[in-house]
Amino acid sequence: MSLAVLASRALFGLQARPVQVEVHVGAGLPTFSLVGLPGAGVRESRERVRSAILSCGFEFPAGRITANLAPADLPKESGRFDLPIALGVLLASGQVADAQGRSPDVRHYVLAGELSLTGALVPADSALAIALAVARDDPDATLIMAPPAAGIAALVPGLRVLAASGLDQVVAHFAGLEPLPPAEPATLSGASGPVPCMADVRGQAAARRALEIAAAGGHSLIMTGPPGVGKSMLAQRMPGLLPPLSRWQALEVAAVQGLVSPLRALPVQPPFRAPHHGASMPALVGGGAHPRPGEISLAHHGVLFLDELPEFDRRALEALREPLETGTVTVARAAGSCHFPARFQLVAAMNPCPCGWLGHPRQSCRCPQERIARYRAQVSGPLLDRIDLHVNLAIEGAWHEAPAGESSVAIRTRVQAAHRVQLDRQGSLNARLDAPGLVAHGALDAPGRVLLARTVEAWGWSARATQRILRVARTLADLQGMPGIGVAQLAEAIQFRPDAGAPRPGR
Ligand SMILES: [Zn+2]
Repeated sequence: MSLAVLASRALFGLQARPVQVEVHVGAGLPTFSLVGLPGAGVRESRERVRSAILSCGFEFPAGRITANLAPADLPKESGRFDLPIALGVLLASGQVADAQGRSPDVRHYVLAGELSLTGALVPADSALAIALAVARDDPDATLIMAPPAAGIAALVPGLRVLAASGLDQVVAHFAGLEPLPPAEPATLSGASGPVPCMADVRGQAAARRALEIAAAGGHSLIMTGPPGVGKSMLAQRMPGLLPPLSRWQALEVAAVQGLVSPLRALPVQPPFRAPHHGASMPALVGGGAHPRPGEISLAHHGVLFLDELPEFDRRALEALREPLETGTVTVARAAGSCHFPARFQLVAAMNPCPCGWLGHPRQSCRCPQERIARYRAQVSGPLLDRIDLHVNLAIEGAWHEAPAGESSVAIRTRVQAAHRVQLDRQGSLNARLDAPGLVAHGALDAPGRVLLARTVEAWGWSARATQRILRVARTLADLQGMPGIGVAQLAEAIQFRPDAGAPRPGR
């Protein structure tokens, strides 16, 4: 054989796209060229591949060697192509054959790993992202990686992963001399830190209710109230109200986290991310020359808490609109755009005015009217319009005398039951119910229809705002195990619209 074709993966965002590694060995003056838009790392790969082949006791062929990484328009920035290139050189020069002298079948193998000069394999980074993509695309595929990355890849259910520590072992496997062992799934501690409990929150009945509804239907929530009223305390308790992550969700969350830091534990609880309002646009939504996921992607399948919402960079806030609708974020780059998952639940908090004391019974607010207007206008109408639940919190007089609240465990039981109802009925949570889904599952009783028609007319609500109310009302009915939506659920849902507390209707 003078041509060998092997499969690998290039990482672009969280997408591990297929790369075909073609190696041709022909007659002519000895050269070794690598084509297919190689980055600096791939150019260095030539030196590592040559040394590794010689160190393992093979011959480096004295001819024209061409290695092509296809497709050419895909940026490739890692040494993980060393292994397929080196194996390709050995296959194409006839140095790997089985006992009958035949060239081995390398279809359905995906190889990833950087080689050291001695031929030892360096574990590939982002193993989980690669493994998830391979498992999704080709159920027959076998992934070859170095431990401990191989063990992390082996966490993906149903994926065959073989562990190899060096080029010589990979060659022995394909020559039929010594099969590579299946990788042992990594034992990662699944422990999450202690999650604070709702029992610590005294009073604030409306906000507690809003939090439960948000958790039950996957709804986004904004809390407005003076400093010290307990907005952050409530937000931090949100993950404890949500069901634990499923296996696939945990792997997806870990794959995103694995792009920014080494993986140490498989998460159990939904993630909770609370970036500071000074966070830059790339830190929040993702970006950079080698695109990295932002906070909204690190909050995938979990909660993104934005405290002091109007203080965030306005452009960054506008960039939240797309992921709030689609569950993914697109990061545009010169080399093309890449996508990160970002199906987070937004919990936001803000003060009623820049000083925070507006409407407070004892403190006095001295903010001029136009400053208050400017402060609130920092958060655009279209973004606020995408938040399902709006709740106002006030300082409560005798909060310390209020009895301890219900525990997170008790609330989570109701939330989980409501999740089951929604997933059985429509395959998604109510927050993601589309217009046809709302027609099918959001039927109102007769008094409810009258109330909705009157309210929509009085407040001049858009179709989008009306749909949000129906989604919240659907969740309220699900919390009570009701097949249809009653007027009481609709009325409660209306209370959570931003204009419900405004002084006069219509705009
Ligand atoms: Zn003020």
